[in-house]
Amino acid sequence: MKTKIAVANGDGIGPEIMQAVLKIFKAHNVPLEYEFVEMGKSYFDAGHSTGMTDQAKETIEKLGILFKGPMETPKGKGVKSINVTARKVWNTYANQRDFRTLNGVETVFSKAGIPINLTIVRENIEDTYGGIEHLLTYDVAVGRRIITRPGSEQVIRYAFEMVRRKGYKKLACGHKANIMKLTDGLFLEVFKEVAKEYPDIEASDIIVDDLCMKLVSRPQMFEAIVLTNLQGDIVSDLCAGLVGGLGFAPSANIGDNISIFEAVHGTAPDIAGMGIANPTALLLSGISMLRFLGYSSNAAAIENSLLYTLEQGVHTGDFGDKSTPSLGTTDFADAVIANLGKVPADGGVFADADFQVKQNASPIKNKLTLSTGAKVEEEMIGVDVFVESKVQPGELAEVAKKSLRFNENFNLVMISNRGTQVWPTGSIYTELVNEYRIRFEKKPGTTIKQKEILHIAADLSEDVKVCSVEFLMNFGGKIGYTLAQGQ
Ligand code: NAD
Repeated sequence: MKTKIAVANGDGIGPEIMQAVLKIFKAHNVPLEYEFVEMGKSYFDAGHSTGMTDQAKETIEKLGILFKGPMETPKGKGVKSINVTARKVWNTYANQRDFRTLNGVETVFSKAGIPINLTIVRENIEDTYGGIEHLLTYDVAVGRRIITRPGSEQVIRYAFEMVRRKGYKKLACGHKANIMKLTDGLFLEVFKEVAKEYPDIEASDIIVDDLCMKLVSRPQMFEAIVLTNLQGDIVSDLCAGLVGGLGFAPSANIGDNISIFEAVHGTAPDIAGMGIANPTALLLSGISMLRFLGYSSNAAAIENSLLYTLEQGVHTGDFGDKSTPSLGTTDFADAVIANLGKVPADGGVFADADFQVKQNASPIKNKLTLSTGAKVEEEMIGVDVFVESKVQPGELAEVAKKSLRFNENFNLVMISNRGTQVWPTGSIYTELVNEYRIRFEKKPGTTIKQKEILHIAADLSEDVKVCSVEFLMNFGGKIGYTLAQGQ
């Protein structure tokens, strides 16, 4: 029985490399059927604001697997990247990228005889990728970083399961919880909780800057690393650099219902249509898709012929020995086809079930709600009111105190600027921008209502422009907000 998947050729070099990969699949009688869907730049240009036709959306949601070429997002039209939107809309919460030394692809590490074989799992939905940003004043932009307990749990659990399936022994969590105590702190807390369910896997955590340093000096220390979205984005490109660049970086965006397989690189407009693009990254992504679908022996055979081909020094123009002629995209694909059945010198890869066997998406009627279901006592403590002002902190404190004349349940606790406390104490050398945070907390022993808090902001707005309001909460007796630097 064949599995039907949705295929989007993409823009720029997309159609060329997709054609090459599907040619290799065909030569190997891969049991897939393709339904080509209309997505990408030309569909934005034709007025589809999501960059895809309704038919494409329907097909992808029905089939549950999208194999896609890179796509261009039109610049300056206020549209969001179709690649990011697709990953988010269809909740592909885990982005898995496998990096390994490929013989024939020379890198600093291959020359030093240090083999690399590591996997990055990046959270794919949350973090700053919500794109929730505001200019609070003309001078000050802020972005919201969203890290959730259930969202973190989904990706971290996926990472542990992946480590087990691959027969790895270790999983590290990269983070910056020393600075971002509540957001990265939550991700790390969930990592430690989930780790308890996997006693067979050595779980450790590492601060992301130290991780980067170690990845470029001793990459063999790591087998698998799970990270939040933005840090994972940066670290995974760093890892692509370790094994020869984005031309060798596959990417699998895994969700419970829909999964997307694509190369990490873009549409390469500078070489589009020239027939010289390297199809390796898309082929490697296709190989992980075959494993995901359960076609493990097809995946291993194609991977071995690719590894053998690279090992023979066959290359496209973007890599390899410049003293030997490079092949175009189609000729490179033909070389891989000619080598089907061959294995590289190290014995190659074996057919194993890398992912679970998965067929089409299971139909769902309502949107799924993610929740850890934890029941925790909440207490409202106060409010941070963000205001635009150019006056000195002491002067602003007097304005803030004035706003409390009708709100006797509250104290003015502190004022900060760019996160650094400037009142009641601070340094004269702290430079100020025109946006302050004014923190009000309830007096001990009082119970306050949200309405009272909103009144503070309303009263304050009589004297100063209020830019935004953030409530201060305690959860389960633990403080649910950070202190200012210097507080
Ligand atoms: P790019 O990856 O397209 O190109 C960067 C450089 O790498 C170029 O010199 C290009 O020629 C080269 N390159 C990339 N892939 C190659 C391949 N397979 N073979 C040989 N050389 C290759 O990055 P960019 O120029 O920043 O982005 C171009 C467009 O791609 C933008 O519109 C961007 O939004 C889009 N993009 C899409 C995706 C995606 O679909 N997942 C990812 C990144 C960028």
